[in-house]
Amino acid sequence: MRLTCPHCGSIATIRTSKELASTVREAKAQCNNVECAHTWIARIVAERTIAPSMQPKPGVYIPLSPRSPAAASPAKNQMELGMEFPLPRPG
Ligand SMILES: [Zn+2]
Repeated sequence: MRLTCPHCGSIATIRTSKELASTVREAKAQCNNVECAHTWIARIVAERTIAPSMQPKPGVYIPLSPRSPAAASPAKNQMELGMEFPLPRPG
C-alpha cells in the first residue's frame, strides 16, 4: 500500500500499526521528505467486499461492493439452482 504525505505529497512510511477492530487498523505514518517530516495517524478500514471470504469469521460483516460479481446477480444464481433441482410438480 502506497501512502503519500497529505502536505507535500512525498511517499510516507508506516512506522507502527495496531488493530482497533477486525475491520479497522490504526497506523502511524511518517513523511519520507526530511524537509517536511510530517507524522500522522491514519486508519485503514475494510469498507466493501469484492470477493467473499472462503473462511468467514463470525461477527465480521463487510458489505458487498456493488461492483462485486457476487452482488451482480444473486437472483440469477437462485434461478439456476432452481433449474438444477426442480421441485416436483403436483399431479
Ligand atoms: Zn510531507
